[in-house]
Amino acid sequence: MPGTVVMKFGGTSVADAERLKRAAHRIVAKREEGLRVVAVLSARGKETDRLIADAQEVSENPDPREMDMLLSTGERVSCALCAMAINDLGHRAISLTGSQAGIVTDTSHTKARILEVRADRIHAALDEGDIVLVAGFQGVSTAKDVTTLGRGGSDTTAVALAAAVGADVCEIYTDVPGVFSADPRIVPDARKLTVVSFDEMLEMAASGAGVLQLRSVEYARNHGVRIHCRSSFDDAPGTVVVSEEETMEHPLITAVTHSRGEARVTLVGVPDSPGLAGRVTTALADANVNIDMIIQNEPRSAGTLAEMSFTIPRDDLPTAREALEPLCAELDMRLETDESMGKVSIVGAGMKSHPGVAAKVFSTLGANEINIEMISTSPIRISCVVPGGQVEDAVRALHSAFELQGSDTIRPEQPFGEFAS
Ligand code: ADP
Ligand code: ASP
Ligand code: MG
Repeated sequence: MPGTVVMKFGGTSVADAERLKRAAHRIVAKREEGLRVVAVLSARGKETDRLIADAQEVSENPDPREMDMLLSTGERVSCALCAMAINDLGHRAISLTGSQAGIVTDTSHTKARILEVRADRIHAALDEGDIVLVAGFQGVSTAKDVTTLGRGGSDTTAVALAAAVGADVCEIYTDVPGVFSADPRIVPDARKLTVVSFDEMLEMAASGAGVLQLRSVEYARNHGVRIHCRSSFDDAPGTVVVSEEETMEHPLITAVTHSRGEARVTLVGVPDSPGLAGRVTTALADANVNIDMIIQNEPRSAGTLAEMSFTIPRDDLPTAREALEPLCAELDMRLETDESMGKVSIVGAGMKSHPGVAAKVFSTLGANEINIEMISTSPIRISCVVPGGQVEDAVRALHSAFELQGSDTIRPEQPFGEFAS
Protein backbone atom coordinates (compact mmCIF):
# COMPACT_ATOMS: atom_id res chain seq x y z
CA MET A 1 0.00 0.00 0.00
CA PRO A 2 1.32 3.51 -0.79
CA GLY A 3 2.52 5.64 2.09
CA THR A 4 0.34 8.24 3.79
CA VAL A 5 1.32 11.74 4.76
CA VAL A 6 -0.46 14.38 6.84
CA MET A 7 0.42 17.97 5.89
CA LYS A 8 -0.67 20.86 8.14
CA PHE A 9 -0.62 24.50 6.98
CA GLY A 10 -0.77 27.28 9.58
CA GLY A 11 -2.63 30.58 9.31
CA THR A 12 0.15 32.62 7.67
CA SER A 13 0.68 29.87 5.10
CA VAL A 14 -2.90 30.23 3.79
CA ALA A 15 -3.37 33.94 4.54
CA ASP A 16 -4.20 35.12 1.01
CA ALA A 17 -5.20 33.62 -2.34
CA GLU A 18 -1.62 33.33 -3.56
CA ARG A 19 -0.42 31.48 -0.45
CA LEU A 20 -3.47 29.26 -0.40
CA LYS A 21 -2.79 28.26 -4.03
CA ARG A 22 0.85 27.65 -3.12
CA ALA A 23 -0.31 25.26 -0.38
CA ALA A 24 -2.65 23.59 -2.88
CA HIS A 25 0.30 23.03 -5.25
CA ARG A 26 2.37 21.51 -2.47
CA ILE A 27 -0.44 19.17 -1.51
CA VAL A 28 -0.95 18.11 -5.13
CA ALA A 29 2.80 17.54 -5.58
CA LYS A 30 2.73 15.02 -2.72
CA ARG A 31 -0.28 13.26 -4.24
CA GLU A 32 1.56 13.09 -7.55
CA GLU A 33 4.43 11.32 -5.78
CA GLY A 34 1.87 8.55 -5.27
CA LEU A 35 1.21 9.23 -1.59
CA ARG A 36 -2.17 9.27 0.12
CA VAL A 37 -2.59 12.82 1.41
CA VAL A 38 -4.54 14.26 4.32
CA ALA A 39 -4.09 18.03 4.74
CA VAL A 40 -5.12 20.01 7.80
CA LEU A 41 -5.59 23.75 7.42
CA SER A 42 -5.77 26.60 9.93
CA ALA A 43 -7.94 29.68 9.70
CA ARG A 44 -6.47 32.28 7.34
CA GLY A 45 -4.08 34.89 8.75
CA LYS A 46 -5.44 36.45 11.92
CA GLU A 47 -9.00 35.23 11.33
CA THR A 48 -9.30 33.50 14.72
CA ASP A 49 -8.21 36.70 16.52
CA ARG A 50 -10.79 38.61 14.48
CA LEU A 51 -13.57 36.20 15.41
CA ILE A 52 -12.65 36.45 19.10
CA ALA A 53 -12.78 40.26 18.83
CA ASP A 54 -16.21 39.99 17.15
CA ALA A 55 -17.48 37.93 20.08
CA GLN A 56 -16.12 40.39 22.61
CA GLU A 57 -17.88 43.21 20.83
CA VAL A 58 -21.27 41.67 21.47
CA SER A 59 -20.70 39.98 24.83
CA GLU A 60 -18.49 40.56 27.87
CA ASN A 61 -18.25 36.90 28.70
CA PRO A 62 -19.19 34.94 25.56
CA ASP A 63 -20.78 31.54 26.09
CA PRO A 64 -18.08 28.91 25.41
CA ARG A 65 -20.40 26.69 23.34
CA GLU A 66 -21.27 29.57 21.04
CA MET A 67 -17.62 30.60 20.94
CA ASP A 68 -16.79 27.21 19.47
CA MET A 69 -19.55 27.50 16.84
CA LEU A 70 -17.99 30.81 15.85
CA LEU A 71 -14.28 29.96 15.98
CA SER A 72 -14.63 26.69 14.08
CA THR A 73 -15.78 28.59 10.98
CA GLY A 74 -12.31 30.02 10.21
CA GLU A 75 -10.78 26.64 9.44
CA ARG A 76 -13.80 25.56 7.34
CA VAL A 77 -13.31 28.56 5.05
CA SER A 78 -9.65 27.65 4.43
CA CYS A 79 -10.48 24.03 3.64
CA ALA A 80 -13.32 24.76 1.25
CA LEU A 81 -11.21 27.30 -0.65
CA CYS A 82 -8.22 24.96 -0.82
CA ALA A 83 -10.44 22.12 -2.11
CA MET A 84 -11.60 24.42 -4.92
CA ALA A 85 -8.00 25.32 -5.80
CA ILE A 86 -6.97 21.64 -5.81
CA ASN A 87 -9.92 20.64 -7.99
CA ASP A 88 -8.79 23.27 -10.51
CA LEU A 89 -5.38 21.58 -10.59
CA GLY A 90 -7.07 18.44 -11.90
CA HIS A 91 -7.19 16.46 -8.64
CA ARG A 92 -10.15 15.45 -6.53
CA ALA A 93 -10.25 16.97 -3.04
CA ILE A 94 -12.91 16.75 -0.38
CA SER A 95 -13.05 19.13 2.58
CA LEU A 96 -14.37 17.93 5.94
CA THR A 97 -15.18 19.67 9.22
CA GLY A 98 -13.60 18.18 12.33
CA SER A 99 -16.89 16.49 13.07
CA GLN A 100 -17.20 14.98 9.58
CA ALA A 101 -13.61 13.78 9.91
CA GLY A 102 -14.62 11.80 13.02
CA ILE A 103 -12.67 13.81 15.61
CA VAL A 104 -14.47 13.14 18.89
CA THR A 105 -13.58 15.28 21.91
CA ASP A 106 -14.61 15.80 25.49
CA THR A 107 -17.08 18.59 26.32
CA SER A 108 -14.64 21.29 27.56
CA HIS A 109 -15.56 24.03 25.12
CA THR A 110 -12.68 26.21 23.79
CA LYS A 111 -10.03 23.78 25.02
CA ALA A 112 -11.41 20.35 24.27
CA ARG A 113 -9.29 17.20 24.28
CA ILE A 114 -9.45 14.64 21.51
CA LEU A 115 -10.80 11.34 22.85
CA GLU A 116 -10.98 9.34 19.65
CA VAL A 117 -10.68 9.66 15.88
CA ARG A 118 -13.20 7.65 13.84
CA ALA A 119 -11.38 7.87 10.55
CA ASP A 120 -13.56 5.61 8.35
CA ARG A 121 -14.76 8.47 6.15
CA ILE A 122 -11.17 9.65 5.63
CA HIS A 123 -10.05 6.11 4.81
CA ALA A 124 -12.88 5.70 2.31
CA ALA A 125 -11.97 8.97 0.55
CA LEU A 126 -8.26 8.07 0.48
CA ASP A 127 -9.14 4.65 -0.99
CA GLU A 128 -10.97 6.49 -3.77
CA GLY A 129 -7.77 8.42 -4.50
CA ASP A 130 -9.13 11.70 -3.13
CA ILE A 131 -7.08 14.29 -1.27
CA VAL A 132 -8.72 14.83 2.12
CA LEU A 133 -8.74 18.32 3.64
CA VAL A 134 -9.69 18.55 7.30
CA ALA A 135 -10.56 21.75 9.15
CA GLY A 136 -8.05 22.04 11.98
CA PHE A 137 -8.60 22.98 15.63
CA GLN A 138 -12.07 21.42 16.00
CA GLY A 139 -14.08 18.33 16.72
CA VAL A 140 -17.45 17.16 17.94
CA SER A 141 -18.03 16.47 21.61
CA THR A 142 -19.54 13.38 23.16
CA ALA A 143 -22.61 15.63 23.65
CA LYS A 144 -22.67 16.22 19.84
CA ASP A 145 -21.64 19.89 20.04
CA VAL A 146 -18.91 21.55 18.00
CA THR A 147 -15.75 22.03 20.08
CA THR A 148 -12.37 23.70 19.52
CA LEU A 149 -9.01 22.49 20.78
CA GLY A 150 -7.39 25.65 22.20
CA ARG A 151 -5.15 28.18 20.42
CA GLY A 152 -2.73 26.51 18.04
CA GLY A 153 -4.94 23.40 18.05
CA SER A 154 -4.61 22.60 14.34
CA ASP A 155 -1.23 21.06 15.15
CA THR A 156 -3.03 18.59 17.40
CA THR A 157 -5.65 17.84 14.73
CA ALA A 158 -2.80 17.00 12.34
CA VAL A 159 -0.98 14.74 14.77
CA ALA A 160 -4.18 12.95 15.82
CA LEU A 161 -5.08 12.29 12.18
CA ALA A 162 -1.53 11.11 11.47
CA ALA A 163 -1.92 8.57 14.28
CA ALA A 164 -5.40 7.53 13.10
CA VAL A 165 -4.43 6.93 9.45
CA GLY A 166 -0.99 5.48 10.27
CA ALA A 167 0.86 8.26 8.40
CA ASP A 168 4.61 7.92 7.94
CA VAL A 169 5.07 11.54 8.94
CA CYS A 170 3.09 14.55 10.11
CA GLU A 171 4.46 17.60 8.33
CA ILE A 172 3.76 20.93 10.03
CA TYR A 173 4.24 23.70 7.45
CA THR A 174 4.66 27.09 9.09
CA ASP A 175 6.07 30.61 8.66
CA VAL A 176 9.55 29.86 10.03
CA PRO A 177 11.95 27.19 8.73
CA GLY A 178 11.65 24.93 11.81
CA VAL A 179 12.10 24.93 15.56
CA PHE A 180 14.84 27.36 16.61
CA SER A 181 17.02 27.85 19.68
CA ALA A 182 14.77 30.85 20.46
CA ASP A 183 11.90 32.61 18.71
CA PRO A 184 13.67 33.92 15.58
CA ARG A 185 11.44 36.99 15.63
CA ILE A 186 13.17 38.05 18.86
CA VAL A 187 16.61 36.53 18.37
CA PRO A 188 17.56 36.91 14.69
CA ASP A 189 20.70 34.76 15.05
CA ALA A 190 18.85 31.87 16.69
CA ARG A 191 19.88 28.44 15.34
CA LYS A 192 17.57 26.04 13.54
CA LEU A 193 17.51 22.70 15.34
CA THR A 194 17.79 19.76 12.94
CA VAL A 195 16.35 17.38 15.50
CA VAL A 196 14.84 17.90 18.92
CA SER A 197 13.83 15.24 21.41
CA PHE A 198 10.25 14.81 22.59
CA ASP A 199 11.28 15.64 26.17
CA GLU A 200 12.85 18.92 25.12
CA MET A 201 10.06 19.82 22.69
CA LEU A 202 7.46 19.19 25.41
CA GLU A 203 9.26 21.52 27.79
CA MET A 204 9.71 24.09 25.04
CA ALA A 205 6.05 24.01 24.00
CA ALA A 206 4.91 24.12 27.63
CA SER A 207 7.06 27.16 28.32
CA GLY A 208 5.89 29.22 25.35
CA ALA A 209 7.49 28.06 22.07
CA GLY A 210 4.17 28.34 20.21
CA VAL A 211 5.58 26.85 17.02
CA LEU A 212 4.00 23.51 18.06
CA GLN A 213 1.00 23.27 20.36
CA LEU A 214 1.89 21.40 23.56
CA ARG A 215 -0.88 18.85 23.14
CA SER A 216 0.28 17.97 19.65
CA VAL A 217 3.70 17.03 21.01
CA GLU A 218 2.15 15.00 23.85
CA TYR A 219 -0.12 13.22 21.38
CA ALA A 220 2.79 12.51 19.01
CA ARG A 221 4.88 11.04 21.80
CA ASN A 222 2.04 8.89 23.12
CA HIS A 223 1.12 7.57 19.66
CA GLY A 224 4.57 7.36 18.08
CA VAL A 225 3.92 10.01 15.39
CA ARG A 226 6.92 11.53 13.62
CA ILE A 227 6.62 15.35 13.41
CA HIS A 228 8.54 17.31 10.80
CA CYS A 229 8.16 21.07 11.34
CA ARG A 230 9.22 23.04 8.24
CA SER A 231 8.78 26.18 6.17
CA SER A 232 5.82 26.57 3.84
CA PHE A 233 7.90 29.02 1.78
CA ASP A 234 10.74 26.70 0.65
CA ASP A 235 11.70 23.04 0.38
CA ALA A 236 14.54 22.98 2.91
CA PRO A 237 14.21 20.33 5.62
CA GLY A 238 13.13 21.72 8.98
CA THR A 239 13.14 20.14 12.43
CA VAL A 240 12.24 16.56 13.22
CA VAL A 241 10.97 15.70 16.69
CA VAL A 242 12.50 12.36 17.65
CA SER A 243 12.64 9.98 20.59
CA GLU A 244 15.41 10.35 23.17
CA GLU A 245 17.25 7.30 21.78
CA GLU A 246 17.48 8.91 18.34
CA THR A 247 19.14 12.12 19.53
CA MET A 248 22.87 11.79 19.03
CA GLU A 249 24.04 14.57 21.29
CA HIS A 250 22.76 16.22 24.40
CA PRO A 251 23.84 19.83 24.35
CA LEU A 252 23.81 21.50 27.73
CA ILE A 253 21.13 23.98 26.66
CA THR A 254 18.98 23.55 23.56
CA ALA A 255 16.73 26.59 23.59
CA VAL A 256 15.49 29.69 25.36
CA THR A 257 11.72 30.07 25.36
CA HIS A 258 9.40 32.76 26.57
CA SER A 259 5.80 33.64 27.13
CA ARG A 260 4.18 37.02 27.60
CA GLY A 261 0.70 35.87 28.50
CA GLU A 262 1.14 35.15 32.18
CA ALA A 263 -0.86 36.48 35.09
CA ARG A 264 0.07 36.14 38.75
CA VAL A 265 -2.64 35.54 41.31
CA THR A 266 -1.90 36.01 45.02
CA LEU A 267 -4.17 34.89 47.82
CA VAL A 268 -3.53 37.01 50.89
CA GLY A 269 -4.60 35.92 54.37
CA VAL A 270 -4.53 32.19 53.76
CA PRO A 271 -5.23 30.24 56.99
CA ASP A 272 -2.29 27.96 57.80
CA SER A 273 -4.26 24.74 57.90
CA PRO A 274 -3.80 21.38 56.18
CA GLY A 275 -5.82 20.87 53.01
CA LEU A 276 -6.04 24.50 51.93
CA ALA A 277 -3.66 24.30 48.99
CA GLY A 278 -5.68 21.29 47.87
CA ARG A 279 -8.96 23.21 47.99
CA VAL A 280 -7.54 26.15 46.04
CA THR A 281 -6.01 23.99 43.33
CA THR A 282 -9.09 21.77 43.11
CA ALA A 283 -11.33 24.81 42.58
CA LEU A 284 -9.07 25.91 39.71
CA ALA A 285 -8.78 22.43 38.22
CA ASP A 286 -12.58 22.05 38.28
CA ALA A 287 -12.78 25.30 36.29
CA ASN A 288 -10.22 23.89 33.83
CA VAL A 289 -7.56 26.49 34.71
CA ASN A 290 -3.99 25.26 34.43
CA ILE A 291 -1.68 26.48 37.18
CA ASP A 292 1.97 26.90 36.37
CA MET A 293 4.24 28.07 39.19
CA ILE A 294 3.12 28.02 42.81
CA ILE A 295 4.77 29.68 45.79
CA GLN A 296 3.44 29.50 49.31
CA ASN A 297 4.97 31.61 52.05
CA GLU A 298 5.00 30.06 55.52
CA PRO A 299 3.49 32.33 58.15
CA ARG A 300 6.27 33.93 60.21
CA SER A 301 4.78 32.93 63.57
CA ALA A 302 2.09 30.60 64.86
CA GLY A 303 -1.45 31.84 64.37
CA THR A 304 -0.61 34.31 61.57
CA LEU A 305 -1.72 33.98 57.97
CA ALA A 306 0.13 32.76 54.87
CA GLU A 307 0.27 33.96 51.26
CA MET A 308 -0.06 31.77 48.19
CA SER A 309 0.90 32.94 44.69
CA PHE A 310 0.62 31.14 41.40
CA THR A 311 0.79 31.93 37.70
CA ILE A 312 -1.90 31.08 35.15
CA PRO A 313 -2.47 31.98 31.48
CA ARG A 314 -3.73 35.59 31.44
CA ASP A 315 -6.78 34.59 29.40
CA ASP A 316 -7.90 32.34 32.26
CA LEU A 317 -7.94 35.16 34.82
CA PRO A 318 -11.72 35.84 34.76
CA THR A 319 -12.45 32.11 35.13
CA ALA A 320 -9.92 31.78 37.95
CA ARG A 321 -11.41 34.75 39.78
CA GLU A 322 -14.88 33.28 39.52
CA ALA A 323 -13.67 29.87 40.69
CA LEU A 324 -11.90 31.27 43.76
CA GLU A 325 -14.52 33.81 44.87
CA PRO A 326 -16.58 31.42 47.03
CA LEU A 327 -13.44 30.18 48.80
CA CYS A 328 -12.21 33.75 49.40
CA ALA A 329 -15.58 34.70 50.87
CA GLU A 330 -15.71 31.61 53.09
CA LEU A 331 -12.18 31.99 54.48
CA ASP A 332 -11.90 35.77 54.39
CA MET A 333 -8.96 35.72 51.97
CA ARG A 334 -8.13 38.54 49.55
CA LEU A 335 -7.26 37.97 45.89
CA GLU A 336 -4.63 40.16 44.22
CA THR A 337 -3.64 39.89 40.58
CA ASP A 338 -0.84 41.08 38.34
CA GLU A 339 -1.68 40.75 34.66
CA SER A 340 1.58 41.86 33.12
CA MET A 341 3.98 39.06 33.91
CA GLY A 342 6.22 37.24 31.46
CA LYS A 343 8.27 34.10 31.71
CA VAL A 344 11.63 33.13 30.30
CA SER A 345 12.93 29.55 30.38
CA ILE A 346 15.96 27.60 29.30
CA VAL A 347 15.53 24.01 28.18
CA GLY A 348 18.21 21.38 27.64
CA ALA A 349 18.54 17.65 28.26
CA GLY A 350 22.22 18.16 29.11
CA MET A 351 21.57 20.31 32.17
CA LYS A 352 20.62 17.23 34.21
CA SER A 353 24.26 16.37 34.70
CA HIS A 354 25.71 19.89 34.92
CA PRO A 355 25.60 21.93 38.08
CA GLY A 356 25.90 25.69 37.80
CA VAL A 357 23.31 26.26 35.08
CA ALA A 358 20.83 27.89 37.45
CA ALA A 359 23.55 30.15 38.84
CA LYS A 360 24.40 31.29 35.31
CA VAL A 361 20.74 32.00 34.49
CA PHE A 362 20.17 34.04 37.63
CA SER A 363 23.40 36.01 37.39
CA THR A 364 22.82 36.75 33.68
CA LEU A 365 19.38 38.16 34.44
CA GLY A 366 20.78 40.07 37.41
CA ALA A 367 23.58 41.58 35.34
CA ASN A 368 20.89 42.83 32.93
CA GLU A 369 18.87 44.43 35.75
CA ILE A 370 16.02 41.98 35.27
CA ASN A 371 14.24 41.13 38.50
CA ILE A 372 13.22 37.48 38.99
CA GLU A 373 9.78 37.29 40.60
CA MET A 374 9.26 33.51 40.71
CA ILE A 375 11.30 30.44 39.78
CA SER A 376 10.40 26.89 38.84
CA THR A 377 12.48 24.01 37.53
CA SER A 378 12.20 20.54 36.04
CA PRO A 379 15.19 18.23 35.46
CA ILE A 380 15.66 19.77 32.00
CA ARG A 381 14.17 23.29 32.39
CA ILE A 382 14.64 26.42 34.49
CA SER A 383 11.89 29.07 34.29
CA CYS A 384 11.82 32.57 35.75
CA VAL A 385 8.82 34.87 35.94
CA VAL A 386 9.97 38.39 35.06
CA PRO A 387 8.22 41.71 34.42
CA GLY A 388 6.35 41.51 31.09
CA GLY A 389 8.25 44.45 29.58
CA GLN A 390 11.63 42.77 30.08
CA VAL A 391 10.90 39.40 28.49
CA GLU A 392 12.63 40.10 25.18
CA ASP A 393 15.79 41.44 26.86
CA ALA A 394 15.85 38.36 29.09
CA VAL A 395 15.58 36.00 26.09
CA ARG A 396 18.40 37.73 24.20
CA ALA A 397 20.65 37.89 27.27
CA LEU A 398 20.26 34.16 28.04
CA HIS A 399 20.60 33.13 24.39
CA SER A 400 23.91 34.89 24.13
CA ALA A 401 25.15 33.91 27.63
CA PHE A 402 24.71 30.23 26.72
CA GLU A 403 26.17 30.84 23.22
CA LEU A 404 23.25 29.29 21.38
CA GLN A 405 23.58 31.29 18.17
CA GLY A 406 24.64 29.26 15.16
CA SER A 407 25.31 29.22 11.46
CA ASP A 408 21.94 27.72 10.52
CA THR A 409 20.04 30.88 11.29
CA ILE A 410 17.52 32.70 9.10
CA ARG A 411 19.76 34.05 6.35
CA PRO A 412 19.71 37.80 5.69
CA GLU A 413 18.88 37.18 2.02
CA GLN A 414 15.84 35.23 3.18
CA PRO A 415 13.77 38.31 3.94
CA PHE A 416 12.34 37.99 7.40
CA GLY A 417 9.29 39.83 6.08
CA GLU A 418 8.48 36.59 4.31
CA PHE A 419 7.88 35.08 7.72
CA ALA A 420 5.94 38.00 9.04
CA SER A 421 2.22 37.61 8.88
P1 ADP B 1 1.18 28.64 12.42
O1 ADP B 1 0.18 29.69 12.11
O2 ADP B 1 1.89 28.12 11.22
O3 ADP B 1 0.64 27.54 13.28
P2 ADP B 1 2.44 29.81 14.74
O4 ADP B 1 2.37 31.30 14.80
O5 ADP B 1 1.50 29.05 15.58
O6 ADP B 1 2.33 29.39 13.21
O7 ADP B 1 3.91 29.31 15.09
C1 ADP B 1 5.01 29.81 14.39
C2 ADP B 1 5.64 30.95 15.17
O8 ADP B 1 6.18 30.44 16.38
C3 ADP B 1 6.81 31.61 14.50
O9 ADP B 1 6.40 32.62 13.62
C4 ADP B 1 7.66 32.11 15.65
O10 ADP B 1 7.53 33.51 15.83
C5 ADP B 1 7.09 31.41 16.86
N1 ADP B 1 8.11 30.74 17.68
C6 ADP B 1 8.22 30.88 19.04
N2 ADP B 1 9.26 30.18 19.50
C7 ADP B 1 9.83 29.57 18.44
C8 ADP B 1 10.95 28.71 18.28
N3 ADP B 1 11.68 28.32 19.32
N4 ADP B 1 11.26 28.28 17.03
C9 ADP B 1 10.51 28.67 15.97
N5 ADP B 1 9.45 29.48 16.05
C10 ADP B 1 9.09 29.93 17.26
N1 ASP C 1 -6.80 29.08 14.13
C1 ASP C 1 -6.50 28.59 15.46
C2 ASP C 1 -5.66 29.62 16.21
O1 ASP C 1 -5.38 30.67 15.67
C3 ASP C 1 -5.86 27.24 15.46
C4 ASP C 1 -4.51 27.14 14.78
O2 ASP C 1 -4.14 28.02 14.00
O3 ASP C 1 -3.81 26.15 15.02
O4 ASP C 1 -5.30 29.38 17.33
MG1 MG D 1 0.35 27.34 15.34
